[in-house]
Amino acid sequence: SPAGPRTLLALNWKMNKTPTEARAWGRELAGEYRRGKAEVAVMAPAISLYGLKEALPGGVDIGGQDVSAHESGAYTGEISAAMLRDAECTYVIVGHSERREYHGETDAAVAAKARQAQAHGLTPIVCVGEGLDVRERGEHVAYTLAQLRGSLEGVDERVVVAYEPVWAIGTGRTATAGDAEELAAAIRGALRERYGDLADGLRVLYGGSVKPDNVASICGQPNVNGALVGGASLGVGDVLGMLAAL
Ligand code: PGA
Repeated sequence: SPAGPRTLLALNWKMNKTPTEARAWGRELAGEYRRGKAEVAVMAPAISLYGLKEALPGGVDIGGQDVSAHESGAYTGEISAAMLRDAECTYVIVGHSERREYHGETDAAVAAKARQAQAHGLTPIVCVGEGLDVRERGEHVAYTLAQLRGSLEGVDERVVVAYEPVWAIGTGRTATAGDAEELAAAIRGALRERYGDLADGLRVLYGGSVKPDNVASICGQPNVNGALVGGASLGVGDVLGMLAAL
């Protein structure tokens, strides 16, 4: 959106790239990156974050892909908000549809993670979005807003919301700019009910098969303030292509 907060290109690497590959990617980006209209943040696997941050050009942020709702202690395999913060993260994705689907994360669990992130100075990127069955029944707005309300329980306004229709993730089937705007506007309305005028300054992202040739039309919508990008985040060329298009 031209009038709203600065566009955020949030890159979600998912389970891709070793620490060595992540550092090499950071150095490659640093060789070509020019600060532009959009902010960039790279959500890398936790084990790669620290080395990646050292290699990235100044002004490019990093973030985690998930965080524990617990403070510390006997939670084998989990990564805490304090750890992400110490590794210089700015953001953390919570409630990605892959976490919801493969790890059974409920809206309440997602909200607990978002609150824990905020308690440590991280900005949670809270993901919501409907599956194909819900879309085909025409219930995508109500479904997504209900998911949003549950996922923001006790969460303050230091938050980014990503609308990611599950049927558009990794499928090459992008929502139209109009589809993205319909939900982004509905989400903005829900954020306004929740946070008042502060909602105008919050970022609502779209995610699902975003790439260089569709990023500008999607991010040009009045209520869309950036994109959460999976597949097209892996190659430096695609990332530079998206930044050039914005
Ligand atoms: P995609 O993934 O860009 O590969 O569709 C987006 C996401 O899952 O965040």
